[in-house]
This record gives sequence, C-alpha cells and structure tokens, in this order.
Amino acid sequence: MDGCLFCMIASGEIPSRKVYEDEDTYAFEDINPQAKHHVLVISKKHIPDVAHCEDLSDGQLAACLRTCAKVAEQVGIRENGYRVVTNCGQDACQSVSHLHFHVLGGQQMSGKMV
Ligand code: 5GP
Ligand code: ZN
Repeated sequence: MDGCLFCMIASGEIPSRKVYEDEDTYAFEDINPQAKHHVLVISKKHIPDVAHCEDLSDGQLAACLRTCAKVAEQVGIRENGYRVVTNCGQDACQSVSHLHFHVLGGQQMSGKMV
C-alpha cells in the first residue's frame, strides 16, 4: 500500500536488517528492540491488523506464524522459549498499521501479559 512503512520495508524501498523472507512473509529486526531478540514478522500482503485477517488467504495467514517459528529457530531462541505478540488497534498501542507479529526472546520475560 502506498505510503505504508512496512510495505516499503518489505519491498526494500526502506532498508531493514532482514532475518528471513519467503513468498508470503518478511522478517526483520525491530529498530527499537524490547528484548534481547526482537524480530518483526510481516505479511507481504498489506492488511492493517489481525482484525482484517479475512483479507489474507489461509496460506498467507499460516505463513506468518510459520515464519515466527522459523525466525525463533534461526536466531537461537527456540530452546528456551519466546513470545509472539500482535497488537491490534488503539488500546493495544499498535503504532504501524500493517499486520506484524513481534517475536521476542533471548531472556526471561515477565509473567504479565499487559
Ligand atoms: P506496534 O507498536 O505497531 O505493535 O509495533 C511497531 C514496531 O515497529 C515497534 O516495535 C517499532 O519499534 C517498530 N518500528 C517502527 N518503525 C520502524 C522502522 O522504520 N524499522 C524497523 N526495523 N522497525 C520499526
Ligand atoms: Zn503495508
């Protein structure tokens, strides 16, 4: 989508530190990491958030979670565990309106979810 930051990152128009890429997804390091490892996994097809997931095919949606798991493996956080988060809308403090999953790990995290 024109003017969307994450669409421009996925297309290479805006540089990023790529971690993984396939036909449906792109993964890159968060610019402001909230954990020792903090990778963003995005759908290459633009949808604003998970509330619009009916606009992705089942395959495209599943690919996002598969990529989260691949990224965790690749950066070495699979064994000790990690967290996958997607923010949706204002109350969740979503700041970029393009579906993305935060993959966080490499340290012990708080038991709190909010
Ligand atoms: P949200 O708050 O929407 O769930 O997450 C957006 C994430 O995108 C934030 O963690 C923020 O640090 C990250 N981010 C924002 N702009 C950029 C950017 O230009 N490059 C990268 N790599 N990450 C970004
Ligand atoms: Zn987009």
